[in-house]
Amino acid sequence: MSDPAFYSGLRQKLDTLKTEGLFKPERVLASRQGAEVVADDGRTLINMCANNYLGLSGDLETQKAAEAALQKYGYGLSSVRFICGTQTVHKELERKLSAFLGTEDTILYAAAFDANGGLFEPLFDENDAIISDALNHASIIDGIRLCKAARYRYANNDMADLEQQLQAATDAGKRHKIIVTDGVFSMDGTIAQLDRIVALAEKYGALTMIDESHASGFMGKTGRGTHEHCGVIGKIDIITGTLGKALGGAMGGFTSGRKEVIETLRQKSRPYLFSNTLAPMIAGASLAVLDRISKSTELRDRLHENTAYFRREIERIGFTIKPGTHPVVPVMLFDAPVAQKFAARMFELGVLLSGFFYPVVPMGQARVRVQLSAAHTREQLDKVLAAFEQAGRELGIIQAA
Ligand SMILES: *Cc1c(COP(=O)(O)O)cnc(C)c1O
Repeated sequence: MSDPAFYSGLRQKLDTLKTEGLFKPERVLASRQGAEVVADDGRTLINMCANNYLGLSGDLETQKAAEAALQKYGYGLSSVRFICGTQTVHKELERKLSAFLGTEDTILYAAAFDANGGLFEPLFDENDAIISDALNHASIIDGIRLCKAARYRYANNDMADLEQQLQAATDAGKRHKIIVTDGVFSMDGTIAQLDRIVALAEKYGALTMIDESHASGFMGKTGRGTHEHCGVIGKIDIITGTLGKALGGAMGGFTSGRKEVIETLRQKSRPYLFSNTLAPMIAGASLAVLDRISKSTELRDRLHENTAYFRREIERIGFTIKPGTHPVVPVMLFDAPVAQKFAARMFELGVLLSGFFYPVVPMGQARVRVQLSAAHTREQLDKVLAAFEQAGRELGIIQAA
């Protein structure tokens, strides 16, 4: 408390964020997560900005599975995994995830952020090369920074640039090379071209790693992920992902792959060795979620129907979206102040969504991002579309019909 300049410096930086429109206020919900939420002022809003793809976050069946695990295993372990923090439910979840993803073994983390943060340093050193997509998630970027390997960056989803970087790493005589990409990029809903990435990996003798946080549970015919969507199950070396989005929505992450990799991470990965075990009720609920989506594609089918419907109708009204098939739908408004005004007007009209502008997305690419869920009803989507139409006309984004 003897350095007042420190605190005034922080206040100044916070004020700058506010004047630049970059300050992020937090929305306070007074209800559980779902297709509809209640804000702390009592207003009911249709929620279009959660990663609740399968609608399981506030779902009663998920909750009951968590309650059953809570009854059986207790609240927590007060330990890291290797001391006394591993229960049968954790081992069972690791086995089920491996079977689901088509891998040999899986290691659980408290978050996907930790899975990515603790992945690279134990596996690669200065003799190796990490070739990473420019738009990869912050946790991948941080994980790579913690590792001594040489870093090569390729332009987002640009296979020609990826090949150039692979060649550069080869020319530099690097021992092991690994291509690293999000399976799905969350700002644009872009799906990584894993078939072409695997082909390039084979050509250059490189490993592959994908982060499936926006894919596990609903991408591909049976929801296994982007590798299923692209027809390359069994051909990806390392898969990381979260239990905090489609697969239940509480928290937790994982890394999955060959036995040697997972065993090495159990011995050496710092967020695993020095952080608490995943709460058993989350492990239990995640098991129930995996069982449920393995038995039926109903939730996934509903999500994709909702996505197709929304993408078609929002374009029919006259909005521009980034083309694609993913439940992340960027509705392009281009101009940052327009995107801000639009999101605020949608909030008044009872729709919760988020606006993104520079520096989160490139200059001139401001947007609101819609995320569909299996939990949305057709009636809710029609209300959202009507609100888009009204706000769009008021702000002169679309023409009156
Ligand atoms: C959300 C996300 C994460 C972080 O997941 P947590 O489990 O919440 O830490 C990591 N990678 C990607 C690509 C994500 O979208």
